[in-house]
Amino acid sequence: MKEQARQARAESRIIGLVPTMGALHAGHLSLFRQARADNDVVVASVFVNPLQFGPTDDFARYPRDLEADAALAAEAGVDHLFAPDVAEMYPRGSIATRVDVGPIGDIGEGAWRPGFFAGVATVCSKLFHIVGPDRAYFGQKDAQQLAVIRQLVADLDLPLEIVGCPTVREHDGLALSSRNAYLDPEARRAAPALAAALTAARDAAAAGEASAAELRWIVETCLEAEPGIHLQYVDLFDPATFSARERLDGRGVLAAAAYVGGTRLIDNVELVSAAPQPELAAEFATEVGAGMKQAAGMKRGAA
Ligand code: AMP
Repeated sequence: MKEQARQARAESRIIGLVPTMGALHAGHLSLFRQARADNDVVVASVFVNPLQFGPTDDFARYPRDLEADAALAAEAGVDHLFAPDVAEMYPRGSIATRVDVGPIGDIGEGAWRPGFFAGVATVCSKLFHIVGPDRAYFGQKDAQQLAVIRQLVADLDLPLEIVGCPTVREHDGLALSSRNAYLDPEARRAAPALAAALTAARDAAAAGEASAAELRWIVETCLEAEPGIHLQYVDLFDPATFSARERLDGRGVLAAAAYVGGTRLIDNVELVSAAPQPELAAEFATEVGAGMKQAAGMKRGAA
C-alpha cells in the first residue's frame, strides 16, 4: 500500500482515503462516491481495529466479508482496497503509543466506551501515515468521531483535509450501520424509533426549544413508547468541539446511543436553534435595507 501511495504522490495525483471497518453498506458507498468525485485516486481501508474495542465489545463477532466488500468498493470507484490484518498493523501484538485526544475522548460516546476515541485516533494516524492522503472522508453518522478526527488533524498539523459526509438512512429513518446486521426482525422493527425520537427533538428545537434538558426529555418520552429500545444516553453537544451544552445556541448535535435487543446503536441529528440571533437579525435587517434601497434605486432609474 505504501508503495502504491508513494507512486501516486510522485505523479502528483490527489489521493482520497475512506477508512472503514468493512461490512460495507450504502453509507460507506456514499463516502467512496464523494471521494471518487473529489480525487484522482481513491483508497478505502477495511480494518476492524482491536484498539477501539473494549473487552466486552463485539470485536470477535463484528461482521466481516472482505470478498463482498471488495466487489462493492470497486463498483463505487475505489482504486485500492487496503485491508491489512491485525499483525500487519500491530506486528508486536499491540502498540504502546496512543494518541491522547483529551477531554473530547471522555464525554458522549467516550464516557461509555473508555479508550474508544484514543483507539480511533491512533489507527487513523497510522492510516494517514501509510496512505498519505490529501483528503479523508468520515460520516456525520459518527459525529463525535468526525469532531475527534478534525481535532487530531488541526492539533497535530496533519497535512490533509477532513471531509464530513451526510448520514445515509433506510426508508424508515434507521441510520445504516454494519451493526444493523445483528438486528433480528423484532429489533429491526423497533430500531427506527431512535431516529424518530431524535427527529422529534430536532423539530422542537427548530420551533424554539433550546433547553438540552427539554430536548432530552422529548427523546426519552418518545422512546418510552417503544419497549424494544433502551436509551443509554442522549445529550446536546457543540458540533465543532463536542463539548456538552445545556442550551442550544445556534447549531448543535443531539447524539444518542440505545440498545435494541442486544445491539448498541448510535445516531445523531444536527439542530438549528430557532431563537433569533441578534447578529443574524442585524445582518438580515441590513440585507433587507440594502434590498429596499436597491429596489427603490431601480424604480427611480426606470422612471
Ligand atoms: P465504520 O465502518 O462503521 O467504521 O464506518 C466507516 C465510515 O463510514 C465512518 O466515517 C462512518 O461515519 C461512515 N458511515 C457509517 N455509517 C454511515 C451512514 N449511515 N451514512 C454515512 N456514513 C456512514
